[in-house]
Amino acid sequence: MKQTHKNCQDPKCKVCLEDHLAVGTRLDELCGDTGKHDHMGRFHSWLTKQGLSPETEHGWGTAAFFDNDNIAKYAEEFLRTNSMKITRELLRRWCACYIDERIAALVPEAGLTPLEVANLDIPAKDRLWILLRDDIVPARELRLLACDWAESACRKSGWADARSLEAIAVARRFAVGEASEAELAAARSAAWSARSAAWSTSKSAWSPRGAAAEAAAAAADVRAMEALSASKTAEWAVQSAAWGSEDGEAAARSEQIADVVRVLKRIDEAAKAGKEAE
Ligand SMILES: [Zn+2]
Repeated sequence: MKQTHKNCQDPKCKVCLEDHLAVGTRLDELCGDTGKHDHMGRFHSWLTKQGLSPETEHGWGTAAFFDNDNIAKYAEEFLRTNSMKITRELLRRWCACYIDERIAALVPEAGLTPLEVANLDIPAKDRLWILLRDDIVPARELRLLACDWAESACRKSGWADARSLEAIAVARRFAVGEASEAELAAARSAAWSARSAAWSTSKSAWSPRGAAAEAAAAAADVRAMEALSASKTAEWAVQSAAWGSEDGEAAARSEQIADVVRVLKRIDEAAKAGKEAE
């Protein structure tokens, strides 16, 4: 939003009041439910939860309060947690490989919540295919999950190449806005070389390590590719942990689903806390 009186702290200023109210209007627009929720109040507590200060001591908004990215992020999160239902139609649009009859048997007309999908009695691989999307898990969280999985694959396989580990560290910083796109691209490119090195070293132990190096490079994929990056990282981490063992793969994927569920529950709780604050 545009803040007209940037340094004005007069609590009676009408221009500042208009600026302030415009944020509420914008939030209503983005959330598409004017009047149903006190988005300004919820946005206020959302900012506080992000560690950002929403209000000056005089009661006007801070730069974080007027920040368009923050406004958009809040709205995205609101929409995701308040209306996200995985319907039959959505699964078809995503080109699910199940036939319509099977989808209809699994998913009721009204759809399923992401947490319900996580508990579906279908292979873990298929549940991950549904869940690892930025419509369901925020891009930032997808990136952080990918970093956790890549890191764990490197640790368990003994792949300790500094380029791979640095790529994971930079990707984590990028997720929270502390590294630039250029830094991410450079880290990814180095991790990509490390991955070639991993595959070309001694054959006896190369598979899990090569896969771990792939996972690290995938975790540092470019911006706006978080969903693909998380899916790729998840799969390479599974390969690294369970090279060729079907039971091992199923166990590794179940662990990943548990990680996704933890993130989804955290988002749900934050949304509920927001509702109670109204
Ligand atoms: Zn003013």
